Amino acid sequence: MTTPFPSRIRFSEAQQIIARVAGAFPMPAERVPLSRALGRVLAEDLVATLALPGFDNSAMDGFALRSADGDAPRQLVGEQFAGRTGGFVLGPGQCLRITTGAAMPAGADAVLVKENARVDADTVFPLQTARSGQHVRRMAEDVAVGDEVLITGTVLDGSKLSLAAALGHHDLAVRRKPTVAVFTTGDELRAPGQPLAPGEIYDSNRVLLQALLIAEGYEPVAWPVLADDPDTIAAALRDAAFSFDLVLTCGGVSAGEKDFLPGFLASEGQVHFWKVLMRPGMPLLFGRLGDAHFLGLPGNPVSVLATFLTLGRLLLDGLQGRATPRSRLRARLTGDVVKSHERFEFLRGVLSCDHDGQLWVEPNPADGSHRLRAAAQSNALIMLGEGAGRWSSGTVMDVLPYAGLEAGR
Ligand code: AMP
Ligand code: MG
Repeated sequence: MTTPFPSRIRFSEAQQIIARVAGAFPMPAERVPLSRALGRVLAEDLVATLALPGFDNSAMDGFALRSADGDAPRQLVGEQFAGRTGGFVLGPGQCLRITTGAAMPAGADAVLVKENARVDADTVFPLQTARSGQHVRRMAEDVAVGDEVLITGTVLDGSKLSLAAALGHHDLAVRRKPTVAVFTTGDELRAPGQPLAPGEIYDSNRVLLQALLIAEGYEPVAWPVLADDPDTIAAALRDAAFSFDLVLTCGGVSAGEKDFLPGFLASEGQVHFWKVLMRPGMPLLFGRLGDAHFLGLPGNPVSVLATFLTLGRLLLDGLQGRATPRSRLRARLTGDVVKSHERFEFLRGVLSCDHDGQLWVEPNPADGSHRLRAAAQSNALIMLGEGAGRWSSGTVMDVLPYAGLEAGR
């Protein structure tokens, strides 16, 4: 049977389709104060209208002086602390007490560090010769007026927000973060803490999806577990599609008797693709439902992890116009890996850095998509790519970290 939409597509094709769709539905921009902009994607170019530093100032606590006076004792003519300017003009043989960040007085070209001076009443004896420019922060040496300091698409971290603040911005134009409705599906699922009947399992994907989303700065709204019933599923998903930018589900996307999502999306919405030649995560379903994007992740926990990290994030990043690349590292395998199938495989592994700065990744042999413990004990996906292959210990691989690196090795 042929499907009216792409099916069993290559991983790279899935990436392209997701990026294209995301690019066609950019999230609107909004202005938010700096205090709420962490992790947001900048929706404007930031051009400096101030210089940084804004004026020549001292890098140390000490005495502003004229280097041309050499080692000669100086006459202390006053003091100028950060935040004030006294309009001082230093003449030959004079110096001014100064603190870090205070404006340099006219006539001075160097700062003698406090510890390198002996002060006797109004006379300062240099214990070291100050060189011209020493301990002086020059106006505009960091940023000049007109410099483009941050560009559209940048993900804002603390240091970038701090730079915006130093330039006087109190709010920034950023993309609105997509709202996400999270559904887990399956008659077998029970909430942790409830008793289990025979054949039932605990819903472990809900907290996984919530954690993955929260780690990316989203505020996921988790809905009750959906039973494997077409009407229940249809009612809940239709409802969510009215109010959320993304409806994210897991389970029910394969070809089993109880996998209703592909048929539902095909009849009520639009399927961009179903099934990607990747492992884990093959039955991934992507499309539109009402006004929302729809991403149906497979039910196996490790499939959720791999598909969210590689393709779910791509969608969310694209919707926000994120230009900052995701960190993709290269590490050497600590052991041999063999792959006998054609699909693009993401294997779990432990990424660590040795004392010589070399990254290593230890593949976990438990490669089943239900092997949650292997994922929990790992911190990276090892990208084996397409095609069968054999990689010997020491081979350099692409890895995608999903948790903090192990220290030492
Ligand atoms: P499905 O795609 O619905 O057939 O699910 C594939 C496998 O993942 C089955 O073994 C399910 O029991 C399991 N599974 C589905 N959803 C979850 C969930 N929320 N938590 C844990 N396991 C799940
Ligand atoms: Mg199911």
